[in-house]
Amino acid sequence: MQALLRCPNCHSSALNFGIDTNSDVACESCGSQYPISFGRPVLLRPDNEVFCIDDYRNASVPTLNNKGSSIWQRFIPKPSVNLASQKILSRVRELLEEMPSATVLVVGGGCQRKWLDERLGAGGSIRLVYSDIDANADVNLFCDGHDLPFVDSAFDAVVTTAVLEHVLYPERVASEIVRVLKSGGLLYSELPFMQQVHEGAYDFTRYTLSGHKRLFNRVSEIDSGMVAGPGTVLVWSIENFAIAFIARSSIRKITKAIIRLAFGWIKYFDLLLKNSPAAMDGASCTYLFGRKVSGYISDSKIISNYRGAQSLRHI
Ligand SMILES: [Zn+2]
Repeated sequence: MQALLRCPNCHSSALNFGIDTNSDVACESCGSQYPISFGRPVLLRPDNEVFCIDDYRNASVPTLNNKGSSIWQRFIPKPSVNLASQKILSRVRELLEEMPSATVLVVGGGCQRKWLDERLGAGGSIRLVYSDIDANADVNLFCDGHDLPFVDSAFDAVVTTAVLEHVLYPERVASEIVRVLKSGGLLYSELPFMQQVHEGAYDFTRYTLSGHKRLFNRVSEIDSGMVAGPGTVLVWSIENFAIAFIARSSIRKITKAIIRLAFGWIKYFDLLLKNSPAAMDGASCTYLFGRKVSGYISDSKIISNYRGAQSLRHI
């Protein structure tokens, strides 16, 4: 991975990893020092206003995926079905396995490592690099998507699922993702549309499918559509209506469980609606799967490729 890295501050590739795996990484060009947290470099710009590089020096032991499921996860139904990721990631894997050795960046990997490793076949010819800003994430390195610490055209594919709604400047993060993709490299992106606030203070925006495509207008679409539809939206809406009356977190959690047990079945309507243009306008989440191109996908093309059911035309 070291050969793919660059200094997030000055963009130089002259990063000096010490002999000791716990000593700071030093940029030989600008002099910035980057700590290592449990073997994982913390490559944040020293002037990052939201995430302080020194806070990662004493980060907790990494949260791994072998901690087992909680009772909540085992017995309470999920409020949504994912209509896309299994199918599209299989296609990503097939395309990557045609290459002698493919490298994939996961932006905002969180705790998805085990799940994504299985779907993308990590350990064979495909190598995955996990990144996140969350100090508890199970990743290879910590970085901010606004300043990805990788050289241009470093990766054969980038996967990012439900991350860009949590960043301050989504266009800048999307631009960074495209920058680190090789020409012709693959993107799989999921972005929420009709969803309530999640991750509290770190939640800033939503995108329609057309907005999602504009965000990645240097990516030529192979496929796009609904990750979760109006059924999921309805389950979450009932849940959020109920907890709107409740401030205490323990009661909110119990209420969520009751609502999911009572109304979780509604999510299965998404299986019927997944190809419906009328449902696309009320999707909970959308995906874009495509390849990086040298030019831009024009706004007029994105508008003409609108996938919903509304026939409005301004001209
Ligand atoms: Zn530097």
